[in-house]
Amino acid sequence: MASSTQAGVPVFDSMELDEIKQTLVTACHILDHEGITDGYGHVAARVPGADAFLTIANVSPGCATVERLIMLDFDGKYLGGAEPPPNEWPIHACVLKARPDVLGVCHTHSVWSTLFSVLPVKLRPLHHYGKFLSADGPPVYEAAGLVRTIERGELLARTLGDGPAVLMRAHGDTVVGASIEQAVQRTIRLAKLGELAHLALLHGEPKYLSARELDTFSADERFPARGWEYYVSRLKNRD
Ligand SMILES: [Zn+2]
Repeated sequence: MASSTQAGVPVFDSMELDEIKQTLVTACHILDHEGITDGYGHVAARVPGADAFLTIANVSPGCATVERLIMLDFDGKYLGGAEPPPNEWPIHACVLKARPDVLGVCHTHSVWSTLFSVLPVKLRPLHHYGKFLSADGPPVYEAAGLVRTIERGELLARTLGDGPAVLMRAHGDTVVGASIEQAVQRTIRLAKLGELAHLALLHGEPKYLSARELDTFSADERFPARGWEYYVSRLKNRD
């Protein structure tokens, strides 16, 4: 299908989208390489200044290429690239529409997020990797089933609120960031936190971090790109 055009949205093949497309593909490969995604899940990036986003077409994150990206508007209208869109494109459309501060969104079926989405205990920060979360941890989107409609996407976005992450019951998670890189690092850290919390809970009630202690860690914002560089370096032997 030929690309549609829409006022204020760059044409899909325009050079101004090259860098964001490449970062999006790298983000998908990182989540796959780190074992967070499997055959499913997707990452989306807001098209700067437009009510539109880029994500992978109906393809596994580990198989993502620039040629397999798609651009949609927030109503799901096709604006260019490979087809079909992923089943759960409303996740990205609704979260990006509700959160102008968000540029990157990751949706995964992370084992650790799924585990805590069904447990009676919340996934609360007990390591400074969880400093981007509130002390009581991410909320849980309770509706079972895939997010294939705008209605479900809006409910998910409302559950996320102004937070960084939402667990999805019996499903996975959705994590947002002020950049694709931040969303990816948060997704990986959420998984690490889940693994650690699971181990800790085997021994009783963990000593969780308080809101005040999380603030202490959050005050240190040096080296925000270091994690991304590390995960990119681990992709070098991938092929
Ligand atoms: Zn899903």
